[in-house]
Amino acid sequence: MIRSLLSRLIPGRRAREPRIYSSAQHDLRRDSVSRGAAQVVDRLQEAGYRAFIVGGAVRDLLLGQRPKDFDIATNATPEQVKPLFRRAFIIGRRFRLVHVHVGGETIEVSTFRGPQNGASADEHGRILSDNVFGTQAEDAARRDFTINALYFDPVTEEIWDYLDGYKDILAHRLRLIGGPVTRYREDPVRMLRAVRLAAKLGCQIEAKTNAPIAKLAPLIQNVPAARLFEEMQKLLLSGHATESLQALRAHGLHHGLLPLLDVIMEQPLGSRFIDLALANTDARVREGKPVSPGFLFATLLWHETLAAWNARKQAGESPISALHEAMDQVLDSQAEKIAIPRRFGADIKEIWGLQPRFEQRSGRRPFRLLEQPRFRAGFDFLVLRAASGEVPEELGTWWQDFQDAHPAEREQMLVADESPPKRRRRRRGRGRGAGAAQEDGPDSAGGGAGEGGEP
Ligand code: ATP
Ligand code: MG
Repeated sequence: MIRSLLSRLIPGRRAREPRIYSSAQHDLRRDSVSRGAAQVVDRLQEAGYRAFIVGGAVRDLLLGQRPKDFDIATNATPEQVKPLFRRAFIIGRRFRLVHVHVGGETIEVSTFRGPQNGASADEHGRILSDNVFGTQAEDAARRDFTINALYFDPVTEEIWDYLDGYKDILAHRLRLIGGPVTRYREDPVRMLRAVRLAAKLGCQIEAKTNAPIAKLAPLIQNVPAARLFEEMQKLLLSGHATESLQALRAHGLHHGLLPLLDVIMEQPLGSRFIDLALANTDARVREGKPVSPGFLFATLLWHETLAAWNARKQAGESPISALHEAMDQVLDSQAEKIAIPRRFGADIKEIWGLQPRFEQRSGRRPFRLLEQPRFRAGFDFLVLRAASGEVPEELGTWWQDFQDAHPAEREQMLVADESPPKRRRRRRGRGRGAGAAQEDGPDSAGGGAGEGGEP
């Protein structure tokens, strides 16, 4: 009783004065951060506010990684921040912050937030709102890991550390702020973040932070699907997907994340196709090449689609229309579970829809396929299928050679029609909408920025 009263008065994670590391004590410099981020800090400080770069960017830089983006924390409220910049927008209803656009960058500016006293929580302790302003020390304490709670001032080049995060950086240690059980109950996604960040940063999860995960793993089921999807997308596109998924499995955290992952992760050896796809995605991310979520989800769902496609073909449907039926079937079932937001559907379908066309190597067809905006993504997908033994290796090689060949040589490469396409050119039945089933028709959707394959 007294203990709980005391802990409310002096919660363990209420940080005191920060330890300040001067520029002589660490390697971060003003020019380590983006120009936009430094400018936004300058402007806020000139206006008399406190402002720091905080969170993932500081952590990544200290660990020698390139930050994805820069977040700023300040004691100015969103209403005070906005008028200081020409292009600034207050966003978010529940969690209000300011997006400042400078050059091509978007810098996120948030006001220091306080403890969630009296915040609404669900019956498992999950916090449902988090929008109380607070002091900088409180802002540090409400963050998840100590290494995510470091503040860098690009003007003085100081690092402000309220929770010994800098020592944890040096030790490559991931330590949750506060009592792990409470913090995981407040937000079960922190368990996924622990696993993902440890894999991405090459850090060890500290014992106390690690201990409750196995038991609390089922709390993941209470997290809204859309939030889980965002987190899983980050994990899968982190450049460390293979490792992260292994760690999730080891922690018993692999149930109910994405319905499609359940299937994959239940197989003890995984599937060769998916292992290759993840390894390939990891390699691309690490080389700084573009990766599209659509391509990745197309790979994760391919086995299901392939099975449905084959079943329909065996039932006598024509290959192309069977594929399109199978695609719809699989994507609709995913959308129902909000496993994959519909916005990725078009991408996924285009990649899948190109696959049968790689088997046609006569006449003008290969030339037309080459001109498809999404040819590259489709081809990369074919290569994975060939590498996993689903289609002959030779098919992938042929298409590689066909691309590399001089236009004049290409004519020589054409393969006599193995299985002549059916005569009828008339359309059967109704079209199936976008990404339709024409074998040779123009590609309806212009593929966006070069993803899935080399630009
Ligand atoms: P990355 O962007 O590499 O995925 P990050 O740590 O920057 O990692 P963001 O989601 O961008 O992750 O969050 C920015 C910061 O907000 C974090 O560094 C952390 O301080 C805080 N934060 C994020 N998620 C949580 C959470 N679930 N609970 C508490 N603090 C969080
Ligand atoms: Mg971030």
